[in-house]
This record gives sequence, C-alpha cells and structure tokens, in this order.
Amino acid sequence: MSPRWGLTRPSHPGPEHWHKDFPIAKGHRQSPVDIDTKAAAHDPALKPLTVCYEQVASKRILNNGHSFNVEFDDSQDTAVLKGGPLADTYRLVQFHFHWGSCDGQGSEHTVDQEKYAAELHLVHWNTKYGDFGTAVKQPDGLAVLGVFLEVGDPKPGLQKVVDALCSIKTKGKSAPFTGFHPWGLLPGNLKFWFYPVLLTMPTVLVFVTWIEGKLQAPPINKQTNNKINTFRQLSFNKEGEAEEPMVDNWRPTQPLHCRQVRASFQ
Ligand SMILES: [Zn+2]
Repeated sequence: MSPRWGLTRPSHPGPEHWHKDFPIAKGHRQSPVDIDTKAAAHDPALKPLTVCYEQVASKRILNNGHSFNVEFDDSQDTAVLKGGPLADTYRLVQFHFHWGSCDGQGSEHTVDQEKYAAELHLVHWNTKYGDFGTAVKQPDGLAVLGVFLEVGDPKPGLQKVVDALCSIKTKGKSAPFTGFHPWGLLPGNLKFWFYPVLLTMPTVLVFVTWIEGKLQAPPINKQTNNKINTFRQLSFNKEGEAEEPMVDNWRPTQPLHCRQVRASFQ
C-alpha cells in the first residue's frame, strides 16, 4: 500500500516537496525501485565495496521535519565509501531512516515487492567536487548506501541513536551527537545490489544491502523493545504545532524503465 500523503498528512509536505531541503530529490530522480531478485544480474567484474569508517566523527542529530539526520564531520576523508561500481571516493555526510506506521511497511525499496519495516540511508558525496553543496548538483555527486531493517534480534549499534531521539522530538530540534560509529548499523556481509538513480545520467547510484541479521528483539513489550516504535514517537511538526507523528516517510517505488539492477553476488 502506498502512503496517501494528502489524506493522512494534510499539513505536512510529502516527498514531492523534499527537494527544497534535499536537491537530489528534484526532477528526474527515479528512486526507489523494486528489486526483482531474479532479474538482477550478477556482475562478476565488480570490485568489493570498501567502507572506510575508522576515523568517522559524528557531530549532531537533527529532526529535519521528514526524518532525523545523524550528521558527520565531512571536512576530511575520515569516513569514505569507494570501490564496487564507484569510480571515485565518496565521503559520508549524514544518515537517516525511512519507516512506516506499522512493521509491515517503511522501506523505500522493496525486494520482490516485499516491504521492510525501515530503511537506513547513508549519504556520501563525491570528493572530487570539494563539498556536499556542489556535489549534490552533479549526476555522479552522491552515493547512497541503503540497508533494510526488520523487527527481530537487537542491533546494539542502534541503541545510542534511539536514546537520542527524545531530545529531538519536533522539527528543527537538534542535539550534539558525538562518538557514534555507523559501522554498527551495517551487516557483516556487504553483499549488495546497485542501480543508477537517474535514467539519463547513470552515475549516481544507490546501493541496497540486505541486512541478514535482524534489528530488534522479539517484542515482549512492544513499546519498549520495538526500536522503530521509538522512531514513531518523533513528530513531523514543529514544537507547539498540531501533533503529526513522524511515520510513513517513505516514497513509493518508481519504474526502472531501461535501467538494470546489478548484484555483487550470485
Ligand atoms: Zn533516504
């Protein structure tokens, strides 16, 4: 089921307006997509994807009114993504999540039409452009590493993020968020699918890595053990405005057209 933005969230701008905050969403962005696992072609020539996060320095966590961002110091090559299908080095600038109003939906990408409870996006910019603001306007300016999340066994790496959310409940609120290592959010095995986000300029890529372990403990008390429930306690609105729970901040899938999803594995 696609979210009905206009019906469920009359005063909150839907994803069609997100480009005001996030220029890559403008124009002919054709993401997310459904990953048809049978149609995804294995690419035997692909180099391994290298995630170099050893020196990563998180700075701040921010409720931006459509998700929450964990922001990183990107003034140096302290946390980079390279290899795989990437010709250049991409620097981590932020990560955010998309999630649903219930556990049966929330991911932006789907796998064989199946939705997941949440999807993590680690956003990196191409260092050859010097800064994020310049890179975001380029066809090969961004590389997004996506990870599906399911309700299941706990992913301890997420706890520090969950603990910070109570201080950024409403739009515009932020809090210092240092010493966080995003490596703990990634699956051990970086098998991935990838595809060009843009139809006409095929060098911006989204990687979709399927997390094989699970995210959360089987809920005993859903309110305390389901970490995605903590995400749902955030609000789209600013403080003092009518309460709009931050849920279903995902976009429906778009047609692949002539693009092909390729896989790093058989
Ligand atoms: Zn996203």
